[in-house]
Amino acid sequence: MADNKTPLYEGKAKRLFQGDEAGTIIQYFKDDATAFNAQKKDIIIGKGILNNLISAHLFPALGELGIPHHFIARTSPREQLVKSVEIIPIEVIIRNIAAGSICPRLGLTEGEKLDNTLIEFCLKNDALGDPVVAAEHILTLGIASPDDLVEITEMSFRINDFLSGLFFGLGVRLVDFKLEFGWLETAEGRQIILADELSPDNCRLWDIKTDEKLDKDRFRRDIGGLIEAYSDIATRLGLEIPELTPQA
Ligand code: UDP
Repeated sequence: MADNKTPLYEGKAKRLFQGDEAGTIIQYFKDDATAFNAQKKDIIIGKGILNNLISAHLFPALGELGIPHHFIARTSPREQLVKSVEIIPIEVIIRNIAAGSICPRLGLTEGEKLDNTLIEFCLKNDALGDPVVAAEHILTLGIASPDDLVEITEMSFRINDFLSGLFFGLGVRLVDFKLEFGWLETAEGRQIILADELSPDNCRLWDIKTDEKLDKDRFRRDIGGLIEAYSDIATRLGLEIPELTPQA
């Protein structure tokens, strides 16, 4: 367990530790819940265990599809071993249905189906409040090249197609989600791979029949029942849920 070591980095939802082998990192999933740029905070016991479980299921599934990713193995209820990458400081948002911040920003109604699946980029910069930016801003800031953005966009749409179908089969609508990518140094050069996590913390998931929210909006909007909702997603994915004990 990495519980007693000093993290390399502590984020809002995860701690990152050096892995035993060079080029590896241990992601430790915390129970901390934050929203609205960390203005709203709480601890929800077991959330990290469920996110680790769900993410550890979805990454290999995407790997089967040919999406390169950082995941190596889930090593404990709260930990997974991943390849060390340099995170590209943009958040990629894919939206199938209008929800969340896009509604007030563009005057859309929550639940409205978007004519086209939309890709948006946000700068990963808490001090600036993760602003939405155009691809041109990313080029101007020198964060990624035009080819990098094409690759990221193509991968993101493939991930959306796959995950939308997977969740549809489980009676769940994939409304939107956030992806992060990283640069992996390989003998052949720098490769862009999927990193971070994929869980109900960074996806909007609605029950197809009832529109019940099975994601972090239960926390953002004080609906309650977050653990039940995340457990529902894990169970629908056919996963066995470990005991939801408090974090160290
Ligand atoms: N999202 C995320 N991290 C962020 C911002 C957004 O994981 O820092 C996810 C969020 O869970 C949702 C999607 O990206 O699935 C779109 O979020 P939105 O822009 O609507 O922002 P929010 O309503 O979360 O502020």
